[in-house]
Order: sequence, then structure tokens, then C-alpha cells
Amino acid sequence: MGLFAPFKRARRQRILAEHPISDELWDWVLKEHPIFRYLTEGEKAALRELATIFLGEKIFDPVGEVVIDDELRLSIAAQAVLPLVCLDIDWYDDWSTVIVMPREYEVKKKDFDEAGVVHEYDDEFSGEAFDLGPVALSRVDIEASGWGDGYNVVIHEMAHKIDGRDGHFDGVPPLPRDIGISEWQGVFSDAYTDFRRRVEAPEARRPRRGKLRKGGAPRLDSYAAESPEEFFAVVCEYYFERPELLRSEYGEVYGLLARFFRRDPLATAQGPQ
Ligand SMILES: [Zn+2]
Repeated sequence: MGLFAPFKRARRQRILAEHPISDELWDWVLKEHPIFRYLTEGEKAALRELATIFLGEKIFDPVGEVVIDDELRLSIAAQAVLPLVCLDIDWYDDWSTVIVMPREYEVKKKDFDEAGVVHEYDDEFSGEAFDLGPVALSRVDIEASGWGDGYNVVIHEMAHKIDGRDGHFDGVPPLPRDIGISEWQGVFSDAYTDFRRRVEAPEARRPRRGKLRKGGAPRLDSYAAESPEEFFAVVCEYYFERPELLRSEYGEVYGLLARFFRRDPLATAQGPQ
């Protein structure tokens, strides 16, 4: 934001020309992150450009004993720009810093109950996206991301950034012209309501072996039941990590995300085994 578009374009051309990602590192990141197998060759080329710009524009800030080497930096960058592979890097131009913590961290929170009594408690975070500010990620969780199992802290926090691009973290990102707000809200609120019902249902607490009945315990991370914005962030993780699973659980959500991100990972390439 703020930079006159032609200057921004020129600066990005310079980053691409002067700070390319080496073939060796690029091959490493593709091999180490099975989720990139969902990309076509053209999309991989776009991902490489976006990751190069991300590396050139963002500041990486290690905390404690964390050392951010080239591999870790690229692992973050490539996963962070994955949602933008058919969109535009400008979605991230209102923030600049990636903080890397060693592991999950605890934050002291304070709440007042209805009687005005203060409750202090510790909340655990594996990542956090601050309004107009940095993104904080735990190294342990970054390393657990990208394997195609549905968990991805980098994509989760980027989804919050995309959601909050209009100033509201509410599970409704700024929508393109061809997706109406009522369509988005209808599909997401139905899915969220259904998901909460399934998480709270007694059978959800008694996992059974074998295939779960449709309508039984949900197979997505129950953290999605926290709020509409967490639901959006978690379904984005599945959209990029395990699209088949999201499509079979919430087909309409999957369809809307495919229109929002301008690509259907299941229509184009082979995913991880
Ligand atoms: Zn979240």
C-alpha cells in the first residue's frame, strides 16, 4: 500500500532479476512439501515468482534460538504465497514482517465475566496474524505444515490476512465480482452451523474405527468450530492440503473457494499420495 504502482512493479522486476531462487533450493522446496503436487507446471512457475517477491519484500524476524536459514525462509514463503498462485501478491502488501517463534507459545489473556470478575488464563498459539501487523509462526508448526495431512499453520495465518484485507476478521474476505456476499455468507454459515452441530454431537466424542458416517463426527480439525473466521482459516488449510477431504465434507465450500482462489486443485494435477 502507498507505493505508486509503476514503482512497485519496477521494484518487483528488480527483485526477480537480482534475487532469483536457485534451482537447487526450488527443487528442494517442491520435494519437501507434497502439497505442491497439486500445482500444474504453469502454477509452479507462478508460485516461484510470487515466492521470490515475498522473500524480497518481507522481513523475517527470528525469536529466541530460532535460526532462519534459506530452507526455512523459502518453506514459509512458498507456502505463504500458495493461496495467491492465481491471484496477486498485492493481497499481502499491507504488512511486512514474519516473526518466527521456536514453538507453540503461551499468551496470557484476561477476560471479564458477566459479574465483572477477572479471569486470567494461558492460551496456546501456533501462529497469529495481527491486524495490519506482522504474522507470527512457530517453527515446529511450520515444519509440520505442507505434508498433505490437512494441517498448515502458514496457510492458516495467511487466510486470516486475506480475510482481514477489508479490515474485518469475520470469515468474509473481499470478494470478487462474480461471488455475491449473500452467496458466500449463505454457504459458509450453513457449513459452519453444521460443523458446530457435528462437533458438539455425542458421536463426535466417540471416534470409531473405519469410515465415518456422513453427518457423524467431522473429519476436519474441530478448531474450525471456534468462530466463523477460524472456520474460514481451517477450511483454507484443507483446501490446499487435502482438497478431496474438504470436497467430500463440504462440497459447496470447496466450490466457492475454487472460485475465490481461481483454481480447482482437483481438476488439474495429481495430489500427494
Ligand atoms: Zn486462526
